[in-house]
Amino acid sequence: MSKILVVAEQRSGQLDPIGLELLGKARSLGGEVVVALVGAGANGLAASLGDHGADTVLVGEGGAFEGPAPEAAGPALAAWVLEHKPTLVLAGSTSFGRDVAGAIAAALQVGVLQEVHQLSVEGAVVKAERPLFGGNAMAQLEAAASTAVATVLPKAFEKAAAGAGKAGTVMALGGPTGTAKAQIQAFAAAIAGGKIDLGQAETIVVGGRGVGSGENFKGLEELAELLGGAVGASRAVTDAGWRPTNEQIGQTGVTVKPKLYLAFGVSGAVQHWVGMKDAGFIVAVNKDPECPMMKAADLAIVGDLHQVLPAMIAEVKAAKAAAV
Ligand SMILES: Cc1cc2nc3c(=O)[nH]c(=O)nc-3n(C[C@H](O)[C@H](O)[C@H](O)COP(=O)(O)OP(=O)(O)OC[C@H]3O[C@@H](n4cnc5c(N)ncnc54)[C@H](O)[C@@H]3O)c2cc1C
Repeated sequence: MSKILVVAEQRSGQLDPIGLELLGKARSLGGEVVVALVGAGANGLAASLGDHGADTVLVGEGGAFEGPAPEAAGPALAAWVLEHKPTLVLAGSTSFGRDVAGAIAAALQVGVLQEVHQLSVEGAVVKAERPLFGGNAMAQLEAAASTAVATVLPKAFEKAAAGAGKAGTVMALGGPTGTAKAQIQAFAAAIAGGKIDLGQAETIVVGGRGVGSGENFKGLEELAELLGGAVGASRAVTDAGWRPTNEQIGQTGVTVKPKLYLAFGVSGAVQHWVGMKDAGFIVAVNKDPECPMMKAADLAIVGDLHQVLPAMIAEVKAAKAAAV
């Protein structure tokens, strides 16, 4: 590999794990590793990326890069790729990474190796594997290594270790032209508040149709906040408009791998299950002890979630207060 571009991500001045995972993979492939990072605070994180092994850090901060908006980063990085011709571009299989990878691939007029969890370079060919149907089948993908673009599932690769002993050359990424500022600001507003990305969350509190309404998700939000986690939803919920579609977990939503997965009023249909079956510990709350989610759960609580959820919140609050 002569040159690899890694599209890193950050929120609220903290590096997201996905960028370090991609950097770890890029380092193992060898060659020059350039890491791009945009958004407020990106300059402050450049040294850390160097310490994790980036040879060059491309930073976009201020102006069009006010928020880590793909509308700005995509065209800017596409222009950089056309000029510098890396052999491989690695982005996260996150909403940001997918948008940026799409913009780069469109500029190069190549396809994207999407949602891969394995990747190798053999001569002039990049080979990748993408899990399908919840990992029950694997698609083998190939692209020419001049320039190949791939989006990688979170937690597919080990994070790059710190202490690489490099300073990493820091360079400013040129701003995009003709970017719709309103779009960028809307995106920045949507992610303001540092909400945890579903794909990276260690704890996810998920609501299904049984929650009953969008309003009733307030309790799930409270529990997620207490546990330092994120809120997720089934498709029945996003179809009803109770929650945004980017929170949908499953076959046609996000694939997640949290340590703790709490399902309230989710039946566990196969299309949902394939998106979360690798969760470490599953807690299910449901009136129906026979539904698939209850049968598969490590801890199945039979009951009305409207009673169980407030009791759980009270218990967590009490446990936290006792721990102080
Ligand atoms: C092509 C295709 C793709 C799909 N992709 C996805 C996907 O990506 N993600 C996804 O989630 N679904 C997906 N689906 C839909 C999927 O088949 C299910 O319809 C959906 O997951 C059901 O959502 P749910 O569990 O919230 O609702 P339901 O199946 O209706 O389950 C509601 C559950 O809540 C329980 N309940 C009700 N009231 C209470 C209460 N007061 N207290 C406790 N429990 C209660 C019920 O016992 C029930 O188990 C897809 C379907 C198709 C055909």
